Amino acid sequence: MTPETVFDQHLGDLFVIRNAGNVVDEDVLGSIEYAVEHLHTPLVVVMGHSCCGSVTAATQGGELTGHIKTIAERIRPSVVNGCCIDENARRHAMLMAQQIAEDTIVRHENAQVLPAFYDIRSGVVEWL
Ligand SMILES: [Zn+2]
Repeated sequence: MTPETVFDQHLGDLFVIRNAGNVVDEDVLGSIEYAVEHLHTPLVVVMGHSCCGSVTAATQGGELTGHIKTIAERIRPSVVNGCCIDENARRHAMLMAQQIAEDTIVRHENAQVLPAFYDIRSGVVEWL
């Protein structure tokens, strides 16, 4: 499902930044800063999801190649060994939301940052 469908919005209503593992890097932060400063977006939602392949790769380790390895390395600080994939995805969304909330422009614009978890089987969004 698209974020617009999940939140019952029309195309163009949401400024969507979508990447594997919802990792926050300079490009993502720049896009968020643009959205809150120039488009006056009041809310940033960081939404992980169930059965996430990127979180699975970061949790299970193994031989990763290319830039997938870079993504997994950015997820690993959120991973707790022994936690299931979905719980680590929740933890990762919360950590990324925390990092975004600490951004100078996000704070200056008073944008709210909320972590969320989307269950792809039920379609339910859980606010974290
Ligand atoms: Zn995923």
